[in-house]
Amino acid sequence: MLEEIKKMPKIVLHLHLDGSVKLSTALKLSNLTMSEVQEQMVAGDKCPNLTEYLTKFDLPISLMQTKNNLKLIARELGENLKKENVIYAEIRFAPIFHTRGGLSCDEVVEAVLDGLSEVPMVKTNLILCFMRGLDLESNLSTLKTARKYFKKGVCALDLAGDELKYPLQDYQTLLKQVGNIPLTIHAGETFKAQAVKQAIAMGAQRIGHGIKAINDEETLDMIKKHNILLELCPTSNVQTNAVDTYVNHPILKFYQKGVPISINTDNNTVSNISLNAEYFKLYQTFHFTLDDFKKINLMALNHAFISPQEKELLYKKIQ
Ligand SMILES: [Zn+2]
Repeated sequence: MLEEIKKMPKIVLHLHLDGSVKLSTALKLSNLTMSEVQEQMVAGDKCPNLTEYLTKFDLPISLMQTKNNLKLIARELGENLKKENVIYAEIRFAPIFHTRGGLSCDEVVEAVLDGLSEVPMVKTNLILCFMRGLDLESNLSTLKTARKYFKKGVCALDLAGDELKYPLQDYQTLLKQVGNIPLTIHAGETFKAQAVKQAIAMGAQRIGHGIKAINDEETLDMIKKHNILLELCPTSNVQTNAVDTYVNHPILKFYQKGVPISINTDNNTVSNISLNAEYFKLYQTFHFTLDDFKKINLMALNHAFISPQEKELLYKKIQ
């Protein structure tokens, strides 16, 4: 089965660039030892909470402050996607976090696009993240960059960060200004189902995680009615304690209820899992078949933030 999974053409919709920096690259770019790099970048099988999990981004972000490093890290992620037989990926990060060394948000995005362009076999787009906990002005600079590069490498916006500390309603003024740029929001990951409803009401076309919706019929109805896709990342959800164990992850229930879903790792390095390994775990735990995986990839493609023409080409590759 693992061999078949590896060969299968896959779509990725939820992948953080800063959470997917190769350990060997972090080792090269920092003056730390391998065990220090591992300790600082890889979350254990169980973190006490999401807040703890999010500390694993400090080191990689500190290393992503120059054009060269951003380009290198983006290229390496592209190469990794190619190795995993991903045919289309939406890669996300918060450009504002990479401006400490003097780069502008525009320069950050250009460096990342530059790196990805070196792996043309994998089609990619960027999702720029607004961050919970940042002031309106900082998030508005991300919006400005997103507008400039929209349909030129940037396909959407996201709201990421700690939803327990920073509730969605604090970002209403910001999200109202998104305009015609597609929006996905991290919601209902560790907080409650209502957060998912709120995110949809605030314009999200997809939801990052959204797993808390499983126990709330009203939220499930709203997800289906608005044809919202849940970007699921099962291993990451166990690590952040959003679910207690892998076997209790609601992915199969969502699938059986006909909720659009996609399969993702969230963070290849922080979550210490490859995409193919995530698929294999799903097969072992829930007995998803290759046909199920194909259907899920078609759902993902349907909800990708690209044009119908672009979808058509990728659709043929999956079929
Ligand atoms: Zn995420």
